[in-house]
Order: sequence, then C-alpha cells, then structure tokens
Amino acid sequence: MAHDHHGDEMTEPPSEMALRVQALESLLVEKGLVDPKALDVIVDRYENRVGPRNGAHVVARAWTDPAYLERLRADATAAITELDYTGRQGEHMVVVENGPKLHHLVVCTLCSCYPWPVLGLPPAWYKSSPYRSRAVIDPRGVLAEFGTVLDEDVEVKVWDSTSEVRFLVLPERPEGTEGWTMEQLIPLVSRNSMIGVEKARPASGAAA
Ligand code: FE
Repeated sequence: MAHDHHGDEMTEPPSEMALRVQALESLLVEKGLVDPKALDVIVDRYENRVGPRNGAHVVARAWTDPAYLERLRADATAAITELDYTGRQGEHMVVVENGPKLHHLVVCTLCSCYPWPVLGLPPAWYKSSPYRSRAVIDPRGVLAEFGTVLDEDVEVKVWDSTSEVRFLVLPERPEGTEGWTMEQLIPLVSRNSMIGVEKARPASGAAA
C-alpha cells in the first residue's frame, strides 16, 4: 500500500531540521515576507494551545459518554471536531481502541505523520529512525523499553500513520475509576498512552 506523506515533513534529524527552519524563518522575515509575530502565534498554538490535553479530553469523554464513544468509532474526525479540535494534520482521524486482549501502537515508518490537533507536536523519539523501524519489527520490544510489558496472549497491532490517516489510541480506562469525572480522568491520559507505547496511568497515580 502506498504511504503518502506531506511534502513539508522531512526525514532529516531534528537538529538539521531545526537549523533549516531557523534559516528559513530568518530569510522570510528579512525579506519582509512574513511577520515574526505571526510565526510566534503559530508556534504558540502548537506548543501550548494544541497539545496532548486535547487528546486526553477526547479519551476521557469516550470513557464517560457511551454515545460519544459510538460517534468516535463511527467517524473519529467528526467526533473530534465536535470538541473543536481541528487543523492541519488532523483531517482524517481514526481511533483504535485498546482492550484486555488487544493493544494498538502507532508509528509513522517513513517520517513523522502525527495527529497534531489532538497530540500537539510529536516527541523526538517518535521521529527517530530506531523507533520508526523497530516499532514494526519488534513492537513488544519497543513497548518493553517504555515499561509496557504485555501478556503473551495480548495481540499487538501496529498502525502506520500517513498523511491520509492519523491514528489516536484509545487506552483502556484504568481500574478503580468508576464514577470519576472528566476532570479527574484527563490527567490519567498521557500522550504516550495515546500513541500506544504506554497504558493510561493507574488510578493510584492520579495527582492529588
Ligand atoms: Fe509520515
């Protein structure tokens, strides 16, 4: 199957990419082609306003609202848009649901396709070539390195993100959280649990 990626995503290491971006920004500003304040707004958007808390909100809603979970299963893009999380790299979302005997792991084998509107910008390890290759070859080994050791009878499915489809893992709701509110549940939903390298934090790990 073809793996299509946005042309603006690069396979160079982050350090080189950072340098290129910096050089490009300086040039554009110098030529008067962009307003540095406009760039600051974009960076702020992805660093602060958009971030894993958005995804955590989606997950906590799915855990507490069966009708929302159904909508998320039927059309994740629409269900996420309902919560006002939209934008670049979030146009075609698919939610994959973990269960007692099934664990999902998300990777982009060719570059760093990632659902920005719900998770923010990808962590460096997600873009690294060891993760991109080993997630497919040895997913259980990768999971173990993140401290996630699954029973032998748990099936692991690996999903390759592209510009066509971005995956969000719906982690299992931790035991002992019956009756918890969204506000209590959201802190249990780590970024890594929505990529699938970890599980949601246990109830005992909740911040006081
Ligand atoms: Fe990609």
